[in-house]
Amino acid sequence: MSRQKSGTLFFVYARMNVQDVAKIIESWAPRWVAWERDNVGLQVGDPARKVSRILVALDVTEDVVQEAFERKADLIVSHHPLFFRPPLSITASDIVGRLVLKLAEKRIAIYSAHTNLDFTKDGVSYALAKALGLTNIRFLAPLERLLSKIVVFVPEEFADRVFAAMSAAGAGIIGEYEQCSFRSRGTGTFRGSSKSSPFLGKSGRFEAAEETRLEMVVPRAQVKTVVESMKTVHPYDEIAYDIYQVDNLSANFGSGAIGELPKAQSLRTFLERAKKTLQAKSLRVAGDLRNRVKKVAVCGGSGSDLLPAAQRANADVYLTADVRYHTFHAAEDSLALVDAGHWETEHVILQPLADRLRESAHRNGKSIHVFVTKLSTNPIHYM
Ligand SMILES: [Zn+2]
Repeated sequence: MSRQKSGTLFFVYARMNVQDVAKIIESWAPRWVAWERDNVGLQVGDPARKVSRILVALDVTEDVVQEAFERKADLIVSHHPLFFRPPLSITASDIVGRLVLKLAEKRIAIYSAHTNLDFTKDGVSYALAKALGLTNIRFLAPLERLLSKIVVFVPEEFADRVFAAMSAAGAGIIGEYEQCSFRSRGTGTFRGSSKSSPFLGKSGRFEAAEETRLEMVVPRAQVKTVVESMKTVHPYDEIAYDIYQVDNLSANFGSGAIGELPKAQSLRTFLERAKKTLQAKSLRVAGDLRNRVKKVAVCGGSGSDLLPAAQRANADVYLTADVRYHTFHAAEDSLALVDAGHWETEHVILQPLADRLRESAHRNGKSIHVFVTKLSTNPIHYM
């Protein structure tokens, strides 16, 4: 416990551990939404270890680890994971090994939120859109086939309990709303075999029971967990439930972002401002700088794959990073395509991420100091 003095009052805050920080991040940017070949979550460290100071950075480099040590951070929350491939050994002979040894020696944990932070609302691309002054921000490409629906038939008096268990396991989230469900009443019928042990009525006899049909959406990746939770509180020995695939686009998860500038302006004016905001030394641009732009699509990091989505959305300009020569050609005539750099389009998430961690912790009565790295981890220099 730590005490913080404010006037004559003392507030007592509880300490957090690494796992608590992971929970805050994952309730916003769940690990299941990450690209399947990504490696997100705790990379180095003990989930039970107490955390009082967090350094937020895009990359884990030797300088960032040294900075974390000097600023007494117990945890580094990074965007890019430390491990992309399972290491065969942890030794000082390679950079990742040296980092892990130093982190273990200094007792600093690493937690990475990578593509799960890219694909989430208010994640990397939303932060980029906000930094560029866009309004009415939404996903450029909402994720598809992400949701299922579970329908379960439950005796009326157990409906609240089953609903609560399913909600706690992650069901019923639609956009900014949680605990979303629909309930209708009806009559369920059954006749149990001699081996059955019905909760209502007798085995071998035709029975009819008043039941609630409870429906909730659930992310596909969470279906198993939600069904298991539902089963722990449902009173029947044989539970009737259905799982449907639904094709709704996700309101909470997608890639890229699109929005409008408050006022139409020349591509040149927009890019001059963007260059300053993103701390970009140079931009690579295909497009006429005199054209007027208002609708702007963005994707932090490597976003060339979303060019067709930006074209379909009738964006005037698409700003992303890691764009190849032929992709610039493919954009010609449809919109202006801008490569602003990988670090430049992603570092804008660091401050919002730090603020979110701090605010969520404080809202839960937990004490934490969260700060953004003072270093640029961009390995690219312009000469
Ligand atoms: Zn990146």
